Amino acid sequence: MPHVTPFDSSPASHLPILQRIYSDTLHRNPGEPEFHQSVHEVLTSLAPALSAHPEFTETGLIERMIEPERQIIFRVPWQDDSGKTLVNRGFRVEFNSTLGPYKGGLRFHPSVNLGVVKFLGFEQTFKNALTGLNIGGGKGGSDFNPRGRSVEEVMRFCQSFMIELHRHLGEHTDVPAGDIGVSSREIGFLFGQYRRITNRWEPGVLTGKGREWGGSEARTQATGYGSVLFLEQMLKMRGEDLDGQRITVSGSGNVAIYSIAKAQELGAHVITASDSDGYVIDEKGINLELLKQIKEVERGRISAYPSRQGGSARYVPTGCVWNVPADAALPSATQNELDSAAAATLVNNGVKAVAEGANMPTTPDAIHVLQQAGVAFGPGKAVNAGGVAASALEMQQNSGREIWAFDQVEEELAAIMCRIHNTCYETANQYGAPGDYVVGANIAGFERVAAGMLAQGIV
Ligand code: GLU
Repeated sequence: MPHVTPFDSSPASHLPILQRIYSDTLHRNPGEPEFHQSVHEVLTSLAPALSAHPEFTETGLIERMIEPERQIIFRVPWQDDSGKTLVNRGFRVEFNSTLGPYKGGLRFHPSVNLGVVKFLGFEQTFKNALTGLNIGGGKGGSDFNPRGRSVEEVMRFCQSFMIELHRHLGEHTDVPAGDIGVSSREIGFLFGQYRRITNRWEPGVLTGKGREWGGSEARTQATGYGSVLFLEQMLKMRGEDLDGQRITVSGSGNVAIYSIAKAQELGAHVITASDSDGYVIDEKGINLELLKQIKEVERGRISAYPSRQGGSARYVPTGCVWNVPADAALPSATQNELDSAAAATLVNNGVKAVAEGANMPTTPDAIHVLQQAGVAFGPGKAVNAGGVAASALEMQQNSGREIWAFDQVEEELAAIMCRIHNTCYETANQYGAPGDYVVGANIAGFERVAAGMLAQGIV
């Protein structure tokens, strides 16, 4: 389990309650280190908000917020291409529906377990609150590993997954989308099966759909675009912009690809991308079309990049992308991928800003190292909220039977990202932690959910 720092930032008056809630969380949720980590991060931010709003400590509000409203675990049997029957485990954690239907992605990856889904659902609740839109928090997925599976196997898996999941969904109830291992291809298979089971063309039940069957323009790009727009705002507060900045990105999935695209469009020089095997460094700047060809079209590995790009690029099979000197870093792969040693290297190399494109990619110790060194640090629940925000715009189009132009969605997305940035920035100032986006995001998200929960009674 990653090391977590004590509640040393909390005013003494709220130490006991926060500490008790945290130790209850450990006790009630054994063996779920990622969930503990995400709860700890939020609790350590809350003390100033609790001092200003003592009502938030009443009616078990924080305790209720930490306990998911519903947790569904189910068997997903399916047959591979040889006819062998395999069994995976499916999850949907419906965390909090105070602000809207449960909303959050599905992750298909061997690392998925209940604790991981709970951490993601907890994060999602605050992230979704930060968008200012009416979406609650949820997350789901499976330990199914799509790597090396044929399209037919993936389809059969998705169909089996939906046979159980469908009864829990609905446009006003729970609306999944993609996450790691789930792109519009999988959403297509899931949507087709939902439609077949229910005999309803109900597009608002899933987001990230294809453009021709209820999907939104710019949803594919939204998480990456939004992350870079957030980073741009962070730099702006320091009197800088993205033009000419040297940027390292980890990952090569949807978030990484469209972060690279937007950063390049805004004049930045993006020099890395990675996958779970290694990373590429391209001093000429990442060739986006080649990266998309390898990862989106061929579904290949990043190691294929250098030989097809020519002399400027090299592949590093071991080691860490954060060893590459950069002005700004966008961890966009997965949780806990940037540890304190990597953070120290980034600091020594003069990094100015780190913005989390993935969910919780930076360990608590690493966040501490970065913030102590005066690096602007943007937490995932704020930085990567553009994806789910565009999902909410997709739901809005679906309920009005509308199709918006790319520019319209992108414009709305930019406004939402700017608003989220300013909310985090101003909330941090208001609660005595200027420049601390972690505190700002946690308190702002918490306050919106908490106010709604108080108004809606003990449910
Ligand atoms: N999986 C994405 C996230 O982590 C998007 C969720 C959604 O669009 O519902 O926010």
